[in-house]
Amino acid sequence: MPTSLKSRAEEWDRLIARLDKAGVPPDVRWRTLILYMRNVRGFYFLSERQKSEIQQLIVDTLKARDYTDRHYEEVVKRQEEILLGPHKEKLRMTLDESEGLLRDFRDLMLRKKGDVQELEVLTVGLVESEKSPKEMISAMRKAFHEVVHAMETDMADLTRISMTDALTQLYNRRAFDEHLSASAEACVQAGQPLSLIMIDIDHFKRFNDTYGHRIGDQALRVVAKVLLLHGEEVNGRPDAGRKGRYFPARYGGEEFAVVLNRTPLEEAAQMGETIRSRVEHYNFTIQDNSGNVLHEGVRITVSVGVARLDPAWKGAWAENLLEHADKHLYQAKESGRNKVCCVLEE
Ligand code: GH3
Ligand code: MG
Ligand code: MG
Repeated sequence: MPTSLKSRAEEWDRLIARLDKAGVPPDVRWRTLILYMRNVRGFYFLSERQKSEIQQLIVDTLKARDYTDRHYEEVVKRQEEILLGPHKEKLRMTLDESEGLLRDFRDLMLRKKGDVQELEVLTVGLVESEKSPKEMISAMRKAFHEVVHAMETDMADLTRISMTDALTQLYNRRAFDEHLSASAEACVQAGQPLSLIMIDIDHFKRFNDTYGHRIGDQALRVVAKVLLLHGEEVNGRPDAGRKGRYFPARYGGEEFAVVLNRTPLEEAAQMGETIRSRVEHYNFTIQDNSGNVLHEGVRITVSVGVARLDPAWKGAWAENLLEHADKHLYQAKESGRNKVCCVLEE
């Protein structure tokens, strides 16, 4: 037998022996599933978190020693959730956003229709009036200018809306993706540092279960507020929270991100700590619709991962940067949450 085939066969024997030792019955479905999951762990397109969750699922499956059909279905379902979860979440957010955008666009079109009808009435009125041609032209020009100006304002509004997350008023995922790619390119070319902060609310599922989804939404706004105010400070002028080198976005669900152009890792890590600490100490009060205080001093905490772009990554900078920041965020979660993680000597 050629050596490579022989070593493959030996490796296979070793794997089978390990499954035997772990007590997995000689059932093709279970063995295939476990070997498949073992293989999937190494796929390059999975995040560290997904790899680790798959690893944990293998360990849990082997520990449970429950080889019933029902458990088989549960394990298959769970591994699908791990692999597809991030894509489903992104798809849901994109659909929500598109729906909002279409609504805004429809309102705008209806308004435009009204403006043009008004213009028509005004023009006909002018033509039927006894005014001199000079007066008529001047009045029509003014009316047209007004409509054009309103259209320009609407276009600017529409562009802003299409880049904004409706719930938090932060930049949305689409704006974030575009900004990160453009910033990575620009910073590498200019030889300037670029850092990324990823923020994830801790135990937010539990928070929603305790206080309800609506209060959960308020908590998301609290984190957004911290980021917008911090952005104003860093960018250096009032109303500048959404402009300048500090670019705060809602990355998805209960995850946020700040792109920091021209910012070295040390400074980004300090900013991450500022965000973590301000969220932790935020005095979050929950009120009902009539303004009565229901809960006072409710605490939320966030875990934070920080990374800097390495120009040696050779393209795919944005993806690499995200992967690194996510890895550190995951470390922050693993090491107890309400923490900031990054590798300063990177
Ligand atoms: P961890 O500390 O590990 O991050 O735990 P977690 O519970 O925060 O994480 P998990 O991913 O299990 O749950 C995230 C939760 O965030 C589940 C989902 O319902 C909630 N969530 C996502 N988007 C929204 C939203 O727009 N509003 C509300 N209220 N909740 C949201
Ligand atoms: Mg999350
Ligand atoms: Mg979370």
